Amino acid sequence: MTDKPKTTEDKKISCSFCGKSQEEVKKLIAGPNVYICNECVILCKDILLEDDKIDTKKKIEIPKPSEIYNYLESHIIGQDHAKKILSVAVYNHYKRVQKPLKDIEISKSNILLMGPTGSGKTLLAQTLAKFLNVPFTIADATTLTEAGYVGEDVENIILRLLQQCDYDVTLAQKGIVYIDEIDKVGRKSENPSITRDVSGEGVQQALLKIIEGTTSNVPPQGGRKHPQQEFLQVDTKDILFICGGAFEGIDKIISNRINKKAIGFNKSIKEKNDFKAEIENDDLIKFGLIPELVGRLPVNANLNELTLEDLQQILITPKNSISKQYEALFSFEGVNFEITEDGRREIALLAHQKKIGARGLRSILEKILLDCMFDIPDKESVGKVILNKDAVLSNQPILVYKEKVKIKKKVGEN
Ligand code: ADP
Repeated sequence: MTDKPKTTEDKKISCSFCGKSQEEVKKLIAGPNVYICNECVILCKDILLEDDKIDTKKKIEIPKPSEIYNYLESHIIGQDHAKKILSVAVYNHYKRVQKPLKDIEISKSNILLMGPTGSGKTLLAQTLAKFLNVPFTIADATTLTEAGYVGEDVENIILRLLQQCDYDVTLAQKGIVYIDEIDKVGRKSENPSITRDVSGEGVQQALLKIIEGTTSNVPPQGGRKHPQQEFLQVDTKDILFICGGAFEGIDKIISNRINKKAIGFNKSIKEKNDFKAEIENDDLIKFGLIPELVGRLPVNANLNELTLEDLQQILITPKNSISKQYEALFSFEGVNFEITEDGRREIALLAHQKKIGARGLRSILEKILLDCMFDIPDKESVGKVILNKDAVLSNQPILVYKEKVKIKKKVGEN
């Protein structure tokens, strides 16, 4: 193709699409027996872009449960049962969203994740959203209040979801919201008529509305609502809500119930994690969740406390592992980074003692590596940083120099 058609009958040439002659447009591009003007090129580009946009709005490719599981597997260590439950729930959720059936209304599979802090609840929700390429936001239930009270309005959650996708309402309506610390907004008493506490039950009621599906009016700029303001209307019925919490103490409720059933059979009580697998809706209600909310979270998954072995794996195995992140950071200075096997074990032991799951790993590494991350940009001679057991215990990473000979020479020169 040439950008200036050369022919003996120049004046007769016109755009094959809009018919404008060469004189009427800035440029006419020639193909084999056809011409297109600059204006039509721009128009075509817009049409293509618009098509792309509509496509992403309409379709979320629904991966099979096994594909979802495999993706989760490459990012999250352990928690196999929870991964399986989530894979199926998410598959069903998007089937429901995408292919509404005429005669049957499939109800939403909102999810409740129960597990100790730092066991991967948020990470699971986040990884799912990343894999499905849908907008995602995290809210902390303890900072939420009912509308009208001081604190964060529940509708702000939807606003944040909108912000994640440039205020594209259609996309936001297919997003995922993770609500953390749902166990901390428990009702104080099982009997609602005795104590009506605003902070607990009120927030649960407010959450219930958006979880079961409502039209949320969101002020486009956030902040307080004004009567004259125009609102964005977001229908929350297809948003997937994943709630998470540690539910500390729920084992007692479960074991009481199981014990009662087991009287006379002399059965031994199983371990902590097994208890939680026995969880029933009534236990959650006894714990302080309102029955309506429990009913709206039909899929329950337990995450186990991470073992020492899990913690060591988390350091190096996941696609985005902490060790790989430090490797990437040090690579900016051309420096290699390695944590030896006994170093990994020591770091895992320290994290285990802190009882904050994998959350502890990062802070431990930050502390050990602080000085070295401060100094290395000024020290071109360092070629590798190694963390072995001694380095972890003494807080002194081992620095290996790039070319010892060269350094010796320099010293000798002085
Ligand atoms: P939770 O929500 O259960 O309190 P998070 O998912 O926020 O815990 O975990 C904090 C961090 O710890 C994550 O960002 C991740 O780096 C790491 N982590 C936690 N659990 C796992 C896991 N099972 N596999 C891999 N990394 C994990």
